[in-house]
Amino acid sequence: MGKVITLFKLLPKLHQILLCILVFVTLIIILMPSDDVQASKQTVSSNGEYGLNTRYEVPLAFRTPTPPSGSEAISIENAESRKQPLVQPSTHRKAHTATTNPVVEQANIAPVLNEKHFQVKSGDTLAALFSRAGLTAKDVYDVTQLPKAKKNLLKIMPGDALVIAKNDGGQLVQLRYHIDKISTLVVNRVDNGYKESITTKTVETRNKFANATIKSNFWNAGVVAGLTPNQIMQLATIFGWDIDFALDLRKDDHFAILFEEEYADGEFLRNGNILAAEFTNQGDSYTAVRYKDGSYYSAEGRSMRKAFLRSPVDFKYVSSSFNPRRLHPVTGQVKAHRGVDYVAKVGTPIKAAGKGRVIKSSYNQYNGNYVFIRHNDTYTTKYLHLKKRKVKKGASVKQGQIIGTLGSTGRVTGAHLHYEFIVNGVHRNPRTVKLPKSEAIASKEKAPFAIVSKKLMTELEHNKLVQIASH
Ligand SMILES: [Zn+2]
Repeated sequence: MGKVITLFKLLPKLHQILLCILVFVTLIIILMPSDDVQASKQTVSSNGEYGLNTRYEVPLAFRTPTPPSGSEAISIENAESRKQPLVQPSTHRKAHTATTNPVVEQANIAPVLNEKHFQVKSGDTLAALFSRAGLTAKDVYDVTQLPKAKKNLLKIMPGDALVIAKNDGGQLVQLRYHIDKISTLVVNRVDNGYKESITTKTVETRNKFANATIKSNFWNAGVVAGLTPNQIMQLATIFGWDIDFALDLRKDDHFAILFEEEYADGEFLRNGNILAAEFTNQGDSYTAVRYKDGSYYSAEGRSMRKAFLRSPVDFKYVSSSFNPRRLHPVTGQVKAHRGVDYVAKVGTPIKAAGKGRVIKSSYNQYNGNYVFIRHNDTYTTKYLHLKKRKVKKGASVKQGQIIGTLGSTGRVTGAHLHYEFIVNGVHRNPRTVKLPKSEAIASKEKAPFAIVSKKLMTELEHNKLVQIASH
């Protein structure tokens, strides 16, 4: 670079000017938006589908090459932030012109306030905090005459923050207090006293995508994908009728999930609902879509809820690590043994796999504490070796109801639940038995659900493709 400048200086004045113009014009041409740029944004073919052997660009990694004159360039960083509110051009421009043209802007700017942040300490009162801020008891009195201020400021908690702005004369001119992540109490000095208002941030929802392949266990995969413990449990609950999360997960099982995130003025607030998900277990894929009734249906519109849960034990009690030997204490013996054993800690809650009536709740030396549930003419489930029974003979139970706790009573070598699934008097493997088909969505909801399902599943698939393309 240094050499270039030295060379440039050696050139005659006229050449220097011409060279400058040439560089300038070239720059303009390079920076002009061209048709190519427009076309490359079109990653989806006209029918909205993706070709198999085409490499797709991450569609939103584009930046507008040149800001159109008068407005700011807005770049969208990634697929997740697609629904992010765009930078408001007005404020952006104002800040911009203020730096380049301070004289013009000066007239519109309010006098500079002496603004300070105060943290509420333990044992603090509003009076103590006001005193630290150099305000008087009269200020406390005046402000707490306002009903909203009174309600919120008299119960300030340690860790809360107040913003106090004073004018040159040391008078309180504005007070701001975040009631929660969305609402702020604002007290302003007016001609004769104070006026209060509550400003509310706009909460906006963005769809977020996450996916993962199970390497060690489902929990870890969920954490790696960025899901919260609550979301991981929700996912297991959504698919809990199809997949036994306690025993059936395998390395390389994978899932993809689309969920809502709520933002208040661009700031992350909390996670919202899981909108759609797909889980592939041992090669079988299951889909789930949330409908407006709050229930989940397969992409085709069948309820995720089925007559039986695949497992009477929550996975979180049994799958702390991916260890097939531990998870399958009776591998190869399922038939002879006539049941499935779930090894977990004594006291682990045991759920009724389906709704029904307790036909036995008793104790003997072989079964220990045991509970039998008759679901209908066809199905009966049996739960053995319980530490405690929580239902009595004759009781009606709901699906998922806790009927007892895992134990080691009866003839056992260690603590486990022995679970049997009987169909028409014959013992079947509860993890592979074909179960009755779940209900289809109400016929009048079929068409509207199909639209929701298609939209969400397309978004899920689209995100999966984007992930693949970016790897
Ligand atoms: Zn057993």
